[in-house]
Amino acid sequence: MESDNKNIVIGIDLGGTSLRAAAVTQDGSIVSKLKQTTPSTAPDLKKLLLETVNSLSRDKASAITLASAGIVDKRGIEVAASPNLEAAAGQPLKSFLEDATALPVNLVNDAAAAALGEKWMGAGRPFDDFILITLGTGVGGGVIHQGKLLDIAAEFGHMSINTKGPLCHCGKHGCLEAYASATAVVDRAVQELGDERESMVRNCCDGNYYKVTSKIIYDTALDGDIMCREILKDAGANLGVGVANLVNIFSPQAVIFSGGMLGAWNFIFPEVSSKVSKLAFEPLSSDLKILRSELSGDAGVLGAACMAFDRLKADD
Ligand SMILES: [Zn+2]
Repeated sequence: MESDNKNIVIGIDLGGTSLRAAAVTQDGSIVSKLKQTTPSTAPDLKKLLLETVNSLSRDKASAITLASAGIVDKRGIEVAASPNLEAAAGQPLKSFLEDATALPVNLVNDAAAAALGEKWMGAGRPFDDFILITLGTGVGGGVIHQGKLLDIAAEFGHMSINTKGPLCHCGKHGCLEAYASATAVVDRAVQELGDERESMVRNCCDGNYYKVTSKIIYDTALDGDIMCREILKDAGANLGVGVANLVNIFSPQAVIFSGGMLGAWNFIFPEVSSKVSKLAFEPLSSDLKILRSELSGDAGVLGAACMAFDRLKADD
């Protein structure tokens, strides 16, 4: 059956490491999607955005939402600051895409889109009040309150949990992101290996620690490596401190995690759960659900698509 073009939109999820994009129908089905490495310069990023939109059949789509890492300015025009995505910072990506495609374009924060994606099609469906935390290159956040996305920065990753802690990419010390992101986990492994710590990770990457990835750390932890298990457990415990603070502030029904670090869920989850039980107020934590995304990395593109459909309805 031929769809009319109002039935398809494009959602783009631009993270610090990968760009994911999908053409999505009104019932939340993904008709085509792609994943690319995030470019490091603004011209390359713009080129990739256009190629992405073209390859997802621009002629059939009727709106685009670009969900980007970083703080999106209140007017939704540019990414005002992004420690993990320098190519986007200060770029008027909304007008660039509008001019290049002649389609209506929304620009939003990536974790906000992921929260909406979970509410629409994922683990957030049963809840009207939940927090979404993305664990990837950075740590992002989104809040669904009374069934709707809260229009707040929700930069949970840059909540300091220790002002004397490690330096974060944002320039401050002890941010949650400096403990619990994939980047932080890799940085710590590299540091410990440099300090002559014994670990099976030494046997990989031809002895070049700088090729270690978060996936190598999870896989080695699964093989029983003590250093990798300790790093992931510590990341989970620090994450739990941040989550307990958020539970005390937002009193959510659920906290949902998404992002590349979910591969280490079995090491991280017990630590998060334990810290939340100890540190959050008991009436707020006793019925709390701590869940993982059900959308296998598609939360951001689906949430972005959901926003694009909302925009079309509002424009009608
Ligand atoms: Zn920070």
